[in-house]
Amino acid sequence: MSARERLILALDFGGTKLAAAAVEPGSRSFRARASVPSPPEKSAEADRDIVLRLAEEVLGSECPAAVGVSFGGPVKAEEGVVLLSHHVPDWEDFPLAEWLREHFGAPVAVENDANAAALGEWRFGAGRGTRHFLYVTVSTGVGGGIVIEGKLYHGADGLAGEIGHMVVDPDGPRCTCGRRGCVEALASGPAIAARARELLSSHHRPGEGKVIMELVGGDPGRITAREVAAAAHRGDPLAAEILREAGEALGFGLAQAIALINPERIALGGGVAKAGAPFLGPVRNAARRHAFPGARVEIVVAELGDDAPLWGAAVLAEACL
Ligand SMILES: [Zn+2]
Repeated sequence: MSARERLILALDFGGTKLAAAAVEPGSRSFRARASVPSPPEKSAEADRDIVLRLAEEVLGSECPAAVGVSFGGPVKAEEGVVLLSHHVPDWEDFPLAEWLREHFGAPVAVENDANAAALGEWRFGAGRGTRHFLYVTVSTGVGGGIVIEGKLYHGADGLAGEIGHMVVDPDGPRCTCGRRGCVEALASGPAIAARARELLSSHHRPGEGKVIMELVGGDPGRITAREVAAAAHRGDPLAAEILREAGEALGFGLAQAIALINPERIALGGGVAKAGAPFLGPVRNAARRHAFPGARVEIVVAELGDDAPLWGAAVLAEACL
């Protein structure tokens, strides 16, 4: 069979962008890639139309031999059914794999974006060469994916790897899931921004937080994790303290994950991981301090950036061939 007949299609229904890529199996570069920012009007049907158009653009006149999909929300991976989107209404119970199978006449595999990104990083990025790999994305939310011997570990209900909802402080702030003190409620981008606003509005020592406030023109409502990270790099002690707290919360969660699954490498992706040393140092220290003795584990920064889910979709498609 020629490479031409074995072209695969990778699709990404992400929170900030929709993307498609055509890839030759095993290749480390996209033959063609196209993406658009998610449209401001949120519609599942419109997103599907856009992704089909992007697919046509990257495929040209060719038909894909298999299709892999990364979806920004929980899915029933075995059936390829979307449970809901974190970003767009009307996705509930949509049979995405079946719909794409009918459209392209090819096998289709679907995973949530954290699992897809884990698979992408394992095969082409920071997880290369490992047999036991944990990927954690820290951005608007905190998600994760576990790859064991080249296969995603899903758990009984497809909820394995939800490291963002491991409780690390039962009295901590409220989480999006309704409970208190999850990793996500302490270490996500919005959690870091909320903590900065909280500390800036309460009593703090003179000079602390000054750089954060400068960066947002004095408007605390504009603070995001990005400004906190920038301020920490410029020596703002309050910003450094906020990132240390967030990093320690994540590191504490990682220590529990290390005890349970003993990964040889953990890769951290997502915007917050780009904060660098002021965040990663506390993550690594807390993980080492609280981890079960004897576990060897490297904690590294992910390599594929925003394309990790798309690469994971390519790996999923390849497995269908
Ligand atoms: Zn939670």
